[in-house]
Order: sequence, then C-alpha cells, then structure tokens
Amino acid sequence: MNEFGLIARYFTRPAANADLGVGDDCALMRVREGMQLAVSVDMLVSGRHFFADVDPQSLGHKALAVNLSDLAAMGAEPRWFTLSLALPELDEGWLAGFSAGLHALADQHGISLVGGDTTKGPLTLSIQVAGELPAGSALLRSAGQPGDDLWVSGELGAAAAAVMHGCGRFRLPDTECRAAYRRLEWPTPRVELGLALRGVAHAALDISDGLAGDLRHICARSACGAELWLEALPASDCLAVLPETLRREALLSGGDDYELCFSAPAVQREHLAALAAELGVPLTRIGRLVAGSGVQVLLHGEDICWQHGGFDHFGAA
Ligand code: ADP
Ligand code: MG
Repeated sequence: MNEFGLIARYFTRPAANADLGVGDDCALMRVREGMQLAVSVDMLVSGRHFFADVDPQSLGHKALAVNLSDLAAMGAEPRWFTLSLALPELDEGWLAGFSAGLHALADQHGISLVGGDTTKGPLTLSIQVAGELPAGSALLRSAGQPGDDLWVSGELGAAAAAVMHGCGRFRLPDTECRAAYRRLEWPTPRVELGLALRGVAHAALDISDGLAGDLRHICARSACGAELWLEALPASDCLAVLPETLRREALLSGGDDYELCFSAPAVQREHLAALAAELGVPLTRIGRLVAGSGVQVLLHGEDICWQHGGFDHFGAA
C-alpha cells in the first residue's frame, strides 16, 4: 500500500456536509446563510501529548475530541474537519484502530473529514475543525461580567490523576486507575452543552490546561477577576484516594478534562439546573466573577493563595 492507498482506505468517506471532500486539491463547503465559521486547530505530538504505544483507537478519538471541545466552548455546531498526519511507518493495524476511533466520534457529531495531508515523520497529528454558529452568537472569553456566576460541567481531576499515576507520582488502586485513564484517553467533548449555552452563558472556555489557569484567560479578556470556591468543585470519585495536596492540584491545575467552564448571570440559575437534567450533564456553580483581576481560590471563604498556573509548553519548569 502507498500514500494514496492509505488515504483511500482509512480517510476517504462520503463527506456529508461538503460539496467535495477528500480527493482534489481543495475541499468545497458552503457556509449556511447567516452563519459564521468557527475554526480551530490542535496538534498532538508523540512523547509530549501521548505515549507512542497508546491505544490508536483512543488516540483517534482524543485527537478529534479535543478539537470538538474547542467548538463546544464557542457554542459552534461541528461541520467539517481536516487531518494532518506524520507517520513513522505504514502500520495498517495502527491505522485501522486510529481511523476507527476517529470516524466513530465524527459520526456521533455529524462532522465530515474533508481533507488532510499525510507524510512520513515522527508520529504527529493535527486536526483542524470548522463549525457554524449564527453570526454574533459565539460564547467569547471576553464576555464575562463582574457578578456573573461561574459554572463548570461534569467532573474535574480524573485525567490529572491518571497522569500522576502514569508518571509515578502516586499509585492509584486498580478501579480508580481504570476510571482515571478512561477520562484521560476518551474525553467527552461537551458539544450539546455548548450549543445550549448560546444566549444563556456570557463567557466560556473548555478546560484543557487546568481550571484555575484557564479561568485566568476569561479574567484577562473580560477585564475582571474571579473567585473559585474549592469546596464546591465537582471532584471526580477517583480523587478520593489522593492526598489533599495532589487532590487540590488535580482539581485546580489538572489538564485534559475538557469540561466547559462558563459565566452566566444569576437569572439563569434555574434554567441551567433544568438544562443539566435535560442533557444528563452535571452543572455546578463553582464561584463568581468579581471586579478586579486574577483568580482567587477560596476554601470556605479563606484565600488559600493558590499559585499553580496552567500548563505552558515554553514556561519555566
Ligand atoms: P496535495 O498534493 O494537493 O497536498 P495530497 O496528495 O496531499 O494533495 O492529498 C490528496 C488528497 O487526499 C487531498 O484531497 C487531501 O486533502 C487528501 N488527504 C491527504 N491526507 C489526508 C488525510 N490524512 N486525511 C484526509 N484526507 C487526506
Ligand atoms: Mg498534501
């Protein structure tokens, strides 16, 4: 099999949302009347974002999931994606697993693979997604207002606990370990929630680098500060076995949860409770936006002087 056989077998599928998908120099798509395009790209590098021996099916899932999560955080409906792949060798077993994980999640969200690029090189993959939203309705990081409630979806910390286990900082018991790795390797992008938050939430983002650090982006862009209530954070069950310092670190600074954090005016509380029940996604009020700047972490009203920021690839160790 050569490059084109590989593309034909694993990455060419009917492109439901496009006039023209894989096979020509460009793909052709139409943006629907009155809609805006939301575009985002994420790169995953072997040895940095995942281990080379990770289950390829989960890798295919996660590569698309982290991008869908960005669309969710804007309130955009997933429409199209492209895939760039650098592969060290042509391993059909790997490609079959990877493409199965990728296409399964794509089908679940009705997003079409319309093109890409394939080359030989150290295992690296990059997916670009495009979604649509009614013009002007995006959930912007800059739209937070002092006095807004802060909310988070789902549970926090499990993926960080898996990473702590993986790098030998703490040995998780088998049950917790399985649950934590499932969250790390098979994240659920909160796409439906993102769509439902249009017109309800003010600012929103997805948590990829840790709640406290990511929240600083909302504060900076919205020119306000935030209070986070540590005791209110929805901790994943598997954090119960961790010592308190690691538990806090997983909750506040753990990456890879891909939950949505958003601000909303207090008048939306009842609506958000109903929405949580309707979607089957827990929504927890975890703090508020305030006048000022920066993120303050409170435990029962006391500032715990939390310093640990989010992950920064070029930050000091
Ligand atoms: P070009 O020479 O114009 O870059 P290629 O030969 O790289 O085109 O790709 C041929 C076709 O296959 C193009 O339509 C491209 O979008 C598609 N393609 C290449 N790699 C992938 C991939 N990994 N996933 C999906 N489509 C791909
Ligand atoms: Mg090419």
